[in-house]
Amino acid sequence: MLLSKGYKVFGIVRRSSTTPYERIAHLVDRVELLSADLLDQHSLVDAIHDAAPSEIYNLAAQSFVQTSWTQPVLTGEFTALGVTRMLEAMRKAAPHARFYQASSSEMFGKVVETPQRESTPFYPRSPYGVAKVYAHWITVNYRESFGLYAVSGILFNHESERRGLEFVTRKVTDGVARIKLGLARELRLGNLDARRDWGFAGDYVDAMWRMLQQDTPDDYVIGSGTTWSVRQLCETAFAVAGLDYHDHVLLDEKFLRPAEVDMLVADPSHARKKLGWEPTMAFPQLIERMVLADLARHRPR
Ligand code: GDP
Repeated sequence: MLLSKGYKVFGIVRRSSTTPYERIAHLVDRVELLSADLLDQHSLVDAIHDAAPSEIYNLAAQSFVQTSWTQPVLTGEFTALGVTRMLEAMRKAAPHARFYQASSSEMFGKVVETPQRESTPFYPRSPYGVAKVYAHWITVNYRESFGLYAVSGILFNHESERRGLEFVTRKVTDGVARIKLGLARELRLGNLDARRDWGFAGDYVDAMWRMLQQDTPDDYVIGSGTTWSVRQLCETAFAVAGLDYHDHVLLDEKFLRPAEVDMLVADPSHARKKLGWEPTMAFPQLIERMVLADLARHRPR
């Protein structure tokens, strides 16, 4: 999206002996990759100094909720303290840049009110959610302490065919494609009664960009305002391929969580009013798109 608007785009990557750039393979010729690590303050200062950015989008995190119970300290390092390091790097190397922090609806957790809006108190339910609450408040604090242009976008789940296979939407759409093509017979899932407000990632990056174009920095909730259960996700996705989820979905306790977020639904009216933001893709179309993409990927060539 930024490239299409004429931006010069830099990305930060961690040094590794392999190059896992699968999701940006179509972009590697058009963006400049800088080596730095959220755990290493100096590398971040150097990267921001070298890129001299006007806008910084911090989307980096240990972002899988389930893993945050098995790696809680590392989750805190990347997802919480990593944001302080990014803000410090910006303060040192590009204090006039604008900073976007990817905050999360997981901060609302065991929800205190429904629907959730900017003023709804947080009640996180996982080490990931707790780390994101820290990250949200350090972003607000740096704005108030140092006058940085820093915003926190509280985004509800946003998905596409590039979603990681461990997340439930992609796990289901990939599972449907493999079952349809005879590569698998069953799909093992956890809690089918959890409800989420799922939207299309393409719509949500547009909201991130809009947040950084305002005269004054502010925080925004971004979501569709609708909520769907994992069971409805299964119904919808299997139906796209002409299948019935009852015939294939099994409960596997391994995918149940020590503490669950039962139901999330956004009130995005602040973003609608201030940013003129509207989602363009409803949940059934999103899931259809993802199933079709996974069918195309698995189909023998
Ligand atoms: P999250 O909202 O960031 O945790 O996104 P996920 O896609 O990982 O999970 C969304 C919801 O789906 C949670 O309430 C999970 O408990 C529920 N869920 C049910 N079965 C599964 C499963 O097999 N994998 C995942 N990732 N989530 C599942």
